[in-house]
Amino acid sequence: MKYFKVIAPLLILLFLLLGNLSTPIKHRETEFLMDTVVTVTAYGNEGKAAVQKVFLRLRELDAKFNAHSEKSELAKINTAPENTPVPVDKEAFKLIKSAHDFSITAEGFFDITLLPLSNLWGFGTENTAVPTENELENAMKQVGFTFISLDPENCTVTKHKAGIQLDLGAVVKGYAADEAMHILKESGVESAYLDLGGNVAVMGGMPQSLWKRILSGQKTRPFVIGLQEPGAPSGTAIDTLSLTDGFIVTSGDYERFFEADGMRYHHILDPATGKPAQSSLRSVTIVSKNGLMADMLSTALFVAGEKEMSALYDLCEHVITINDAMELTYVK
Ligand code: ADP
Ligand code: MG
Repeated sequence: MKYFKVIAPLLILLFLLLGNLSTPIKHRETEFLMDTVVTVTAYGNEGKAAVQKVFLRLRELDAKFNAHSEKSELAKINTAPENTPVPVDKEAFKLIKSAHDFSITAEGFFDITLLPLSNLWGFGTENTAVPTENELENAMKQVGFTFISLDPENCTVTKHKAGIQLDLGAVVKGYAADEAMHILKESGVESAYLDLGGNVAVMGGMPQSLWKRILSGQKTRPFVIGLQEPGAPSGTAIDTLSLTDGFIVTSGDYERFFEADGMRYHHILDPATGKPAQSSLRSVTIVSKNGLMADMLSTALFVAGEKEMSALYDLCEHVITINDAMELTYVK
């Protein structure tokens, strides 16, 4: 009995200590949004509520920025006549402005007005087809971000040519990843992982098991993210990247494409030709602290191919390319 008085508090202390040291619980949810599979994983007691909040926001962004939905902010612009200022909400204005600015920076490899071309090729629909040169020529007349002007004071977007239509397909997932990480942080989550169909975001490192914590003295370790091998079954990694905080975004020719007459036509278009961008690159991966920038850069650098684009490389931490021969290059 006299030992009990000593042992009981010690046991309670040990349990409290172990409880505190144990790996935080994991909460994960998956949903089809933004035309892709979205998975959000958050660790800790705040995880569940935080992930639900993230999905609410992602659904909102999907509705707002889906160029194919009549109710989106983009549809307001896309269906409006030329030379008429179209009021959009503040957030839409800000995102369109960022993407428009980036279109200027990207030296012709990035353009937020390619929707008439994407529609002509049928990307995002069941009716994909190789257009005739004549059809391409006509669609090209309805393309060009220089035919858009933005008025920050009145939050309006004006098209200066008939037929111009905005598409933020290369932008929204990156912005959504930024927003999701922001919500998770605000909700008190310290460790999280998000996958928005090729746009990966990580925060705080991955919590370690109790024994690994004791052995390494570290509460977390960097997340390990696989680099998809182009053309291989989804999930086949050609290499891995370790990252504690930040965004890893890949644009490639192997996920959204169709085949006709033995040729493969993918969804990332070269604004100069109106056709799927052609180079020896199969994918470009960007590592950055900014999800939106990473998304825009991965698309632009995929179109740029092997051309040296130092000014764009400066906008992120790492650029990794994979070419036809499956050679991996750490460009930066
Ligand atoms: P994914 O959406 O498959 O992750 P990207 O981020 O590279 O790939 O974006 C591709 C999408 O962006 C296309 O589906 C299309 O909507 C749009 N797009 C295609 N080519 C370009 C381009 N050169 N500049 C800007 N947007 C583009
Ligand atoms: Mg992109």
